[in-house]
Amino acid sequence: MPKHTPEPLDPRSPLVLDTRDLPRRPGALRTVRRAAAAPADLGVELIGVPAGADLDLDLRLESVSEGVLVSGTISGPIKGECSRCLREIDDVVAVPVQELYAYENSTTDMTADEDEVGRMQGDLIDLEPVLRDAVVLTLPTNPLCREDCPGLCPDCGVGWAELPADHSHQQVDPRWAALSQLTRKEE
Ligand SMILES: [Zn+2]
Ligand SMILES: [Zn+2]
Repeated sequence: MPKHTPEPLDPRSPLVLDTRDLPRRPGALRTVRRAAAAPADLGVELIGVPAGADLDLDLRLESVSEGVLVSGTISGPIKGECSRCLREIDDVVAVPVQELYAYENSTTDMTADEDEVGRMQGDLIDLEPVLRDAVVLTLPTNPLCREDCPGLCPDCGVGWAELPADHSHQQVDPRWAALSQLTRKEE
């Protein structure tokens, strides 16, 4: 299987983990707590993490025989638009992550499919692809400002939440109204 050569990682990027101080001995552990600026386009069409917003990384790195298992939570603010009433949504999201990053040239690295496990580059781990997948899985494709958002009046486009209960566009001409009363009597 042809191995694709990824872009070299920048160890100073906050979404790149350096595992140099994690012994390559199964069971060795290290925790990582840090803030990282969110990369651009982190989200789905209607909702996502604003570029540059503070992500909070709370991760556990564990040496296993073929690589490093990264697990934990990445949380951050999300901004978007209600898919029913278009009102702005301001919320926070906590995304669980768990991924095995195989050591270069380990059996797993040589045999596992491209999308099956992550790959380390030397001592470096790139969190961004896993973060993106996890965010896309977590965020709703049709976000709502609240579960029972009533949406918009289809005639005037104003949110039902802002309209009086008897709001209606049925403008009945008084003459027709009289006629319809007549018809009703005949029935
Ligand atoms: Zn809404
Ligand atoms: Zn209306």
